[in-house]
Amino acid sequence: MLMLRRIHLQPGLMARHVSSKPGKRSFSLRAVCGAGLVGCGAGYLLSRMDGQLRERQLPGAGFRVCCEEMITPKQQALPNELRGIVGKQHVVENVTETGTMVGKGHAMVVVRPGTLQETMKVLEACLNAEVAILPQGAKTGITGGSVPRPCDRPMVVISTQRLQKILPIGDEAKQVLCFAGAGIFSVQETLKPLNRDSHSVLGSIFLNPSVAAGVAFGSGGTQIHKGPAFTNRALYCRVDANGQLKLVNTLGLNAHEDVVAFLDNAQALSSKDMDAKCTRAASWPKYPQHLTKLDGQVSRYNADLTGEDCNRSEGKVFILATIHDTFPMPQESKMVWVSCKDFATANHIKQKVALASPNCLPKQFEYMGREQFDCVDQGGRGIIKLIEMVGMSNLGTLWNFKLKFESLPLPFVNIIADKLLWYLNSAIPESLPKPLMEQGRKFDHHLIMEMTEFGNGELKQLDERLQRQLALNPGDISCYVCQDAFEKSRVMLFRFAVQPSIQTITVGKGRQGLIIDYAMPKNFDRILEMPKDCDIEMRCLCSHFGCNVFHESLMLSNDVDVKEVKKRIKQVIDEAGGKLPAEHGHGTEYEAPCSTQERWKRIDPTNSMNPGVGHSSSLKGYL
Ligand SMILES: Cc1cc2nc3c(=O)[nH]c(=O)nc-3n(C[C@H](O)[C@H](O)[C@H](O)COP(=O)(O)OP(=O)(O)OC[C@H]3O[C@@H](n4cnc5c(N)ncnc54)[C@H](O)[C@@H]3O)c2cc1C
Repeated sequence: MLMLRRIHLQPGLMARHVSSKPGKRSFSLRAVCGAGLVGCGAGYLLSRMDGQLRERQLPGAGFRVCCEEMITPKQQALPNELRGIVGKQHVVENVTETGTMVGKGHAMVVVRPGTLQETMKVLEACLNAEVAILPQGAKTGITGGSVPRPCDRPMVVISTQRLQKILPIGDEAKQVLCFAGAGIFSVQETLKPLNRDSHSVLGSIFLNPSVAAGVAFGSGGTQIHKGPAFTNRALYCRVDANGQLKLVNTLGLNAHEDVVAFLDNAQALSSKDMDAKCTRAASWPKYPQHLTKLDGQVSRYNADLTGEDCNRSEGKVFILATIHDTFPMPQESKMVWVSCKDFATANHIKQKVALASPNCLPKQFEYMGREQFDCVDQGGRGIIKLIEMVGMSNLGTLWNFKLKFESLPLPFVNIIADKLLWYLNSAIPESLPKPLMEQGRKFDHHLIMEMTEFGNGELKQLDERLQRQLALNPGDISCYVCQDAFEKSRVMLFRFAVQPSIQTITVGKGRQGLIIDYAMPKNFDRILEMPKDCDIEMRCLCSHFGCNVFHESLMLSNDVDVKEVKKRIKQVIDEAGGKLPAEHGHGTEYEAPCSTQERWKRIDPTNSMNPGVGHSSSLKGYL
């Protein structure tokens, strides 16, 4: 704010000085010279300030310089070859890509295949031209994994955004086959009329992130009985040690000579298409049992090596399609907002109500601390209003427009949208019903719990447990029951606005920001103590509480070295037995442990795919 004010003031002061000189001719000459000087000065100041702003870390941010690659003749010919495969309108050259919250980089080409067969041909062509391949979904990842970065070869982004097919399997749709780019919101909408619930709901669902990226990250989210995005039934491509493309098929479909062509042409899948003998898991096995065993293990984390190689592969293989279990739709649901005086009470409710039995889990059980509540209220009203106005399904387009705009080579473009949201925030009505806002402001710790009924009395059991806790501590807890679908959706939107609002606040207040995602052991029942002297001005804490996965959104003073702060926080998390990252992936923000890097080397021995992810080598063959 202070910086922007200075920009407006400075030219004004200089102009006044110029016009006070006497003599008409000399005045006009001087005026012209003066105006020129003012222009140069203002330009210099603008570019300096823009430079300073870009150096400042926004939450998780880091700008990447374009790589200056040596382009070989084969690489030069690649765009034309790709046009021949996918059509010219689906190939864009020389693209500057901006990630959601983190990263900006240069891609030689962005290509959007429309079928699985085209995708394989595109992959072959890229391998032949010896470029680095970057699989990309909806680009909502917040650790920069799908944003181009400097590398020893040009990077080609293969976007899955045209691979949208969703095929519920059989009449009961107990499983669903999704093409890589199908969005999780679209899957949810497709399954609704079939009375089934989708496999994954993330805080970013309003941006329709892709199913394949969910698998590639092991994305988590709010729905605790489903576990992280995980499947051992997949169709994916990997590059072998000779640089050849290999198709891996663990889908468990009945044999087809050409499974890729079969899926491209399939309009529906019946149970007859499935190999009845296939017992491969299509969701995390026994997650509720694992979750309710409150031991020293973490519930889920990104460096977990369990399962087929496509899981948590972070773009080191190319996922074409996956099969996922679907879940029964609840017959009834009740959303409550429980506010507690202290964290111990919130934790007590977790143990005695939410995780008391694996057969009776709430559908969602989220935690939000006081500063997080204030942060969403002070920075998130705009995005909540926007979602309400344009609807979830249209927000992705607006979001992508914002990212495109922010990648323009103009001063301040990376902050304009958030500055605007920041200034407009107080003019927009509060996002939650009035009594809930009042309750929110009165307490420091908040739980959002959705209790659901599946026909075995689950809702009643959970509610009774909750009522017992409320009766035990009447002064320390307050409970608000959402009255209707509108109030429920408002509560969920308030929760989903957590990530965008910290961006808005840090930009609005002109500070640095940092987002950290970690899982604490299931029996860890405190709030992690932050290292001292980190100059944290605002600490927003929220959590997928049932899984003990935490997200810290920190606003930091402009003087601190954000990377250093991050390192110190990582150390504290490690010492307490936690794992970082938990669900956002390593991307370019976290160093993957040796075991993960070894696995990536095994599945991509030539380092053709997503080089440099998780601080691994970005050089061909990892040399
Ligand atoms: C507001 C907001 C809230 C969020 N909330 C959550 C949350 O609650 N839980 C959570 O886990 N995450 C959350 N995220 C992070 C993000 O939405 C998820 O990581 C999501 O799964 C990314 O999907 P995408 O399609 O946008 O992937 P992208 O960002 O496009 O890609 C992510 C990674 O997947 C790889 N990838 C993409 N497609 C393929 C493919 N076909 N084959 C192989 N690799 C591939 C990319 O190379 C990259 O490494 C949130 C993000 C935002 C902005």
